[in-house]
Amino acid sequence: MRGWEEGRWKWGDLGVNEGLTGDEGTESMLGVLKGRLEEFGGLKEGRDSVVWSGKADPVSSFSVALCYDFFLRDRTPHGSQVKYHEAFEFLWKSEVPFKVKAFGWRLFRYRLPIIDLLLRRGMAIPADSLNCILCGNCEENLKHFFFSCGVAKRVWSEVAVWVGKEEKFEEACKANFLDWFHFFRAKKVKQGKEGMIWLACVWTFWTLRNGVRFRKDKWSVNDIVWSIKLLAWKWMFCGNITHPNFSFYEFVMDPVFFLT
Ligand SMILES: [Zn+2]
Repeated sequence: MRGWEEGRWKWGDLGVNEGLTGDEGTESMLGVLKGRLEEFGGLKEGRDSVVWSGKADPVSSFSVALCYDFFLRDRTPHGSQVKYHEAFEFLWKSEVPFKVKAFGWRLFRYRLPIIDLLLRRGMAIPADSLNCILCGNCEENLKHFFFSCGVAKRVWSEVAVWVGKEEKFEEACKANFLDWFHFFRAKKVKQGKEGMIWLACVWTFWTLRNGVRFRKDKWSVNDIVWSIKLLAWKWMFCGNITHPNFSFYEFVMDPVFFLT
């Protein structure tokens, strides 16, 4: 029964008879919804109202100046209109297969069919498929899966050691891309090759994720790192070829040399 119980709002069955939907997916979605609502007990005092969420501190109310600041947060003064917008330009100029650029664009725009987005769109996902395939501990979302997951970080870290890059865990997607891009630009690698290793990493993560989800593929951190190296070597022969002929073994020994 819904109603107040010891000062907290109980949501009841939300108008859905449990066990009668006849669909396992719907049941699990209902479970997820109930879990989320559980955390929100409701407010006994006052009425629902529209609240300005762009404020920096909890007491200020809406003002044009705050609205201006809110939009300014994503902009850089005297630079591109939107913060990190140059990441898109560098992405499209990268010498990788077109499908990978298109994937990168979807990643930058948060448009990949990743679990938290699918749930928000109302898709029914079984409860045992909600978590990150790498660590199994958190509900899958884009930032976690690609950047903040402990397993993903181990991979990034090994790839960073491989190319001689200082470890820096930037968790915002475009900022992370630009960090790697500028590292390779500072190394004076050929134009179009600066974003290649980063794209090989995220593309490998994504194909692995789909392989595990849909084909129950097996994996290890070592496998992921070697797949990234192999993919990067293959992509070395896209677009402006830096060195006409070299083996995978030679590339693995000194990737930056062959990228310049
Ligand atoms: Zn994880």
